[in-house]
Amino acid sequence: MLKAIKAGTLIDGNGAKFDAATIVVENGLIREIATDGKSPPINGNAEWLDYSDLTVLPGLIDGHVHIVFSAGESALNDILTDSNERAMLRAVHNVQAALSVGVTTVRDVGGITDVTLALRDAIRDGIVPGPRILAAGPAITITGGHCYFLGGEADGIEAVRHKARDLAKRGVDLFKVMATGGGMTPGTNTTRAQFTVEELEALVGEAHRRHLKVAAHAHGVAGIRNAVTAGVNTIEHCTWVREDDLDSIDFDENVAKMMAAKGVFMSPTLCPSWLNLNRPAGGEMTPNRVRMRRLAPLIKEAKVKALALGVEPMGGTDAGVSNVPLDSMPIEIRCLVEELELTPMQAIVASTRNGSRALGIDGEVGTVDVGKRADLLVVEGDPSADILNVGKTRWVLRDGNVLVENGRLVRT
Ligand SMILES: [Zn+2]
Repeated sequence: MLKAIKAGTLIDGNGAKFDAATIVVENGLIREIATDGKSPPINGNAEWLDYSDLTVLPGLIDGHVHIVFSAGESALNDILTDSNERAMLRAVHNVQAALSVGVTTVRDVGGITDVTLALRDAIRDGIVPGPRILAAGPAITITGGHCYFLGGEADGIEAVRHKARDLAKRGVDLFKVMATGGGMTPGTNTTRAQFTVEELEALVGEAHRRHLKVAAHAHGVAGIRNAVTAGVNTIEHCTWVREDDLDSIDFDENVAKMMAAKGVFMSPTLCPSWLNLNRPAGGEMTPNRVRMRRLAPLIKEAKVKALALGVEPMGGTDAGVSNVPLDSMPIEIRCLVEELELTPMQAIVASTRNGSRALGIDGEVGTVDVGKRADLLVVEGDPSADILNVGKTRWVLRDGNVLVENGRLVRT
């Protein structure tokens, strides 16, 4: 099946922009790209999709989601009380919300293994439409540690190894580890490391011998340091909080330089803070929100410093946690520009090509290049000129199939 897609503007995900492009797609793969109004060679009949008054860019990659979380005010209570059946219904709703704004790949970094893997496979097999899912199953954490309720508790090198092997046996696509505590789980310490370097090295060893990646949740600088030293692939949140002091930041230039040298991506997950601090009237200013508001500019400053030292950013929303719905990716991209001072084009690259590299799927998706899958987002206006245009979704294609038409999910 041959398709020819006309784009008024093409943003390729590598940082380049072209006028009047035609993308030829065969069996879901990009076969040819012609630009500047030239006609590509087309053998036989093709179905033409005319987006000549719109901009085409690679489908977005949300590198940090929790598809079984409710995104409601009481997301923690919901995950603790939901049945697996109810969690599955939430997950279907959630991934389709992501797809509707142009997210064609999500990386689930903490969920209910049976649910997330079953939905991943159902989407892959065409049972329900949705984005491609890469899933970690539960996050590996210490006993009683951050997100322990997902079932990923492991203490000590041997237990971490066993947990990793067990998850690999169940078919996860990556490992997620909680290198520090987290705000969602009462009783955990976000400023302290949860695992030693040796425990994390054991996990990284299990991952890399299977060609899997490791995503490490880390707020406190001690956890970031341990995770980067051990060789994880991405640092989630990366807020550089000072050990035993929730109210200040301790940016470590040497750790940031090590991240840059090792190619460890920073997944800054800006949505939770932005959405919780820019809530419509009625949002209660809890003590946690007051603290977030005070700390936000300092965290931002540390992340900007890390970028200046050569750390590569990737896009990830942390969608599913309280007040962060799964269709938040355009907000994350906007925050990459407004808070981390990326250019619109850099923010798009972070959310397409960089995401695919961080996930290890850059041979398949992440850019509009010959040989890649035709995962495409079509928007109004030029998002490289005004990043708000990235949220003006019109069409979304996965593997060359139209799944969203004029902003609405369709069955094809
Ligand atoms: Zn998360």
